[in-house]
Amino acid sequence: MVRADRVHKNFGALRVLNGISLEVRHGEVLCLIGPSGSGKSTFLRCINHLEQVSAGRLYVAGELVGYREKAGRLYELHPRDAARQRREIGMVFQHFNLFPHRTALGNVIEAPMQVKKVRKAAATARAKELLDRVGLADKVNAYPAQLSGGQQQRVAIARALAMDPKLMLFDEPTSALDPELVGEVLTVMRELADSGMTMVVVTHEMGFAREVADQLVFMDQGVVVEAGPPAELLAAPRHDRTKEFLSRLL
Ligand code: ADP
Ligand code: MG
Repeated sequence: MVRADRVHKNFGALRVLNGISLEVRHGEVLCLIGPSGSGKSTFLRCINHLEQVSAGRLYVAGELVGYREKAGRLYELHPRDAARQRREIGMVFQHFNLFPHRTALGNVIEAPMQVKKVRKAAATARAKELLDRVGLADKVNAYPAQLSGGQQQRVAIARALAMDPKLMLFDEPTSALDPELVGEVLTVMRELADSGMTMVVVTHEMGFAREVADQLVFMDQGVVVEAGPPAELLAAPRHDRTKEFLSRLL
């Protein structure tokens, strides 16, 4: 579902991604960890067309992201085609980013109606299903300011799911939450993983990574230092940088 082949990203002279290679199969969950500034968000943003890779190849569902290739050369994708690719990817951010002046329901129906031209009645029915699925059936008409951080993040997950994504990206979805609200969001994410969704999750919730992830990837300074099944990587990290990072987390 995702294949990164020596992905590089520079911002001017700043080299943020220095050759990331990894694969996520259909239905797999990959958890990405690493120190602040190591390029985790930038990598997710490249997958989701919020940044364009500087070199290397990135594929989602077999399609090159952001470019088309012709006779070995890359050409930037037409915005319409980039938009089509991007619609198939859901993203959840640390700071929810809900529309403050719309209800939970309003937030969830927005993109299907605007982007996919789904009729209001159909979008509403589906949004209610999704809000029920994330445990918010009773908050359909609440505004973000009337919801806790955990509830807002669950609305954000429902909103991403409303576009029927093939792939879900999560960028530290619980980092901004009070500790007692983290569990309810992780529960929703775990259920989503169990339902077969392919997910790339930047998180430092090691309990979640251990139980839910198929692969755990440790990144530092724009490279993958170490990757493997979470139980193995957590029990016996091979690199000093991984050991040091994990010892600071636990
Ligand atoms: P992480 O998510 O692992 O903390 P980021 O991907 O956010 O790391 O950032 C990696 C580096 O890239 C940081 O040094 C950050 O300042 C830099 N960076 C991120 N986005 C931009 C940008 N748009 N322009 C310039 N530098 C950026
Ligand atoms: Mg980040």
